Amino acid sequence: MKFTNMFMPTTKETPSDATLASHQFLVRGGFISQSGAGLYDFMPLGKIVLDKIRAIVKEEMDEAGANEMLCSFVTPKSLWDESGRSSTMGNELLRFKDRKAAEYVLSPTNEESIVNMVRNRITSYKNLPVNLYHINLKFRDEARPRFGLMRGREFLMKDAYSFHASQEDLVREFNLMEETYKKIYNRLGLEFRVVEADSGAIGGSGSKEFHVLANSGEDTIVICPDCEYGANIEAAVRKKRHFDAWFENTDAPTSMEKILTKDLKTIEDVSNFLSVSKAQNIKAVMKKAIFEESSEAIVFFVRGDDELEETKACNAVNALELADISEDELKDLGLTPGYCGPFNLPTGIKFIIDNELKNEVGLACGANEEHYHFVNTDLSLIKDAIYKDLTIVQEGDTCTCCGGKLQYTKGIEAGHIFQLGTKYSSAMNANFLDENGKSQAFIMGCYGIGVSRLVAAVIEQNHDEKGCIWTKSTAPFMVDVIVSNGKKEDELNAGLKIYEELRKNGISTILDDRVKERFGFKMGDFELIGFPYAVVVGKKLQDGLVEIVDRRNTSLKIEVAIDKVLEKLQELI
Ligand code: ATP
Ligand code: MG
Repeated sequence: MKFTNMFMPTTKETPSDATLASHQFLVRGGFISQSGAGLYDFMPLGKIVLDKIRAIVKEEMDEAGANEMLCSFVTPKSLWDESGRSSTMGNELLRFKDRKAAEYVLSPTNEESIVNMVRNRITSYKNLPVNLYHINLKFRDEARPRFGLMRGREFLMKDAYSFHASQEDLVREFNLMEETYKKIYNRLGLEFRVVEADSGAIGGSGSKEFHVLANSGEDTIVICPDCEYGANIEAAVRKKRHFDAWFENTDAPTSMEKILTKDLKTIEDVSNFLSVSKAQNIKAVMKKAIFEESSEAIVFFVRGDDELEETKACNAVNALELADISEDELKDLGLTPGYCGPFNLPTGIKFIIDNELKNEVGLACGANEEHYHFVNTDLSLIKDAIYKDLTIVQEGDTCTCCGGKLQYTKGIEAGHIFQLGTKYSSAMNANFLDENGKSQAFIMGCYGIGVSRLVAAVIEQNHDEKGCIWTKSTAPFMVDVIVSNGKKEDELNAGLKIYEELRKNGISTILDDRVKERFGFKMGDFELIGFPYAVVVGKKLQDGLVEIVDRRNTSLKIEVAIDKVLEKLQELI
C-alpha cells in the first residue's frame, strides 16, 4: 500500500471529550471517526487493525474446536421475553418496532439467539458438547458511552456459547476457553491478568475476566504479589480480620449496654469517644434497592472502617441497582440516621450483615434511638441475621490463598467467560435426552471478547506522547518506508525498490511516497500512526545507506546498507 493511494486522514485536532490516549490517537491517527454518541466508523487503517485482532481471535477459537456461525443482529423481543431479560436488562436493551408493530431488540449479547438456534436441533447427549461462536456487532445503550472504542454503544464482540450434558464437561470447556483466551492475548502482545469476576447481568455462577493492564483501566483489580490470586474488586475476597473486643482493653461491662452518645453520629466521633478503633464499630449503610418492579429500603451493616461494595450489595439482595435514600424517607420508616444498628431495628426493615462480622463480639453500634449507642454487643444473638460478603477489599488486606498483602492495579476488561449452567436453557425450555433417556436442560457456558475494545486497549498499553505504538501482531503495517523528499527521483525509486522487496518477502509494508509533504511531517505521521518500524530513505542514499527507526525508541536510528534492509528487518521482526 502507498500513502498516496490510501485514505488516512491524520490530524492535529484532538476531540474535546477525548481523555484517554487511545481515544485521542485513534482519532488523530485516522483510524476511527465518531458518527454519534458511542458510534464509530472504522476508517481504512482502523479496519485493518480490527481485522487483524479478529483474525487472531478466530484462529484460536477454531483451533479450540469451536464452530463459527452468525446470529442476526436484530432479534425478536419475544425471545427476550422467554428468558425474562426483556425486563431485567433495563435501558441498555434497545427496543424498537417494525412497520407491523412487531417488537425487536438490537442484540447486546446472544444467549437467547443461540438457545433458540440449538433447541429442537440437538436433542440427544450424543450430539453434545458443542461450542458455537460468532464475531458480530453488539448494541448496548450504555448510560455513559465514553473513552472512544473502550465503551461504545455499538461495538464488535466475539461471543461463544457452549452446550453440555454435564457440569464436568462444562468445566472442561471453561478451562479450555481460559487457555484459548490466554493464547489470544499473548499473540496480541498484551500484558494481561486473569481474575475472578462478578457475573453481572449475564448471570450464572463462576466467571473469570481477562484484564489488559493499563493505568487508565476503568476496573480496579485486586492482586496478590505473592501468588496467582487476582479478582475484580467487585468479586475480591480477603482473609477475615480480627480485632480485640472492646472490653478486653477497657474495664467495660461484659454484657450489651446502652450508652449516651449525644450528637455523636459518625463512626469517627463514636470511636474517639469510646477510645476504640473504627474497626470496632458497626457501620450502617442505608440504601434503596431497586428491583424490576419495586424498590425497598435495606440496611447493610459493615465494619466501621469498611466500605460497601455496590455490586456485592446488589447481588446480596438480588437488586438491579442501589440508590441513595433521603433522611426524611429513613425517618418515615422509623430508622434513626446516625444511630442505626442491627439490634432493635424497627420491624419489617430488611438488613444484611457483612460476613466479616459473623459472630463478632464487643463491637459498638447505633441503638436505633437518637443519641444512643450499644457497646459490647454480641452478633450471634441476632438469630434471623443474613450474612453476605458486602465490602470492598482494601490494599494491604490479607490474601486468603497465601497470606500475602493484597494490592490494587488497574485493568481494562477485554474478555469475560461464564459458567452459565441452565439459566437460559431452563427458562427457554431447551432440553436434550440424557444417557438414561431423561429430559434435561442443556448446561451452558458463554465466553466473550471485546474485539473493538481491544483496538483501544492495545494503545492504552502501548503509546507515548507522540502517538500509537502497535504491537507486531496488531500493526496496520509492519514497516513504513519513508521517502524523505518525494521530489527526488532517486529517493523515490530506492524507496519503491525497498517497498517491493519487503512485500515480496511477506513483510507488510506501506510506502510514504507523498511528494508535497516534508520529511518532518512524514515522520510525525509515522509516530502518530505507530507502525513498528520505519525505513528512512534520505540524504545518505548517495553512500548507499538508509536508516531503520524503531517506533519504541525513535531516537535510535540504525544505519544500514540498502541491500541489507530486508535482512536487518527480518532480524528485528
Ligand atoms: P463492562 O463491565 O466493561 O461494562 P460487561 O461486563 O458488561 O463489560 P460482557 O457482557 O462481559 O461486558 O461482554 C464481553 C466483553 O465485551 C467485555 O469483556 C468487553 O471487553 C466487551 N464490552 C462490553 N461492553 C462494551 C462496550 N460498551 N464497548 C466495547 N466493548 C464492550
Ligand atoms: Mg463482563
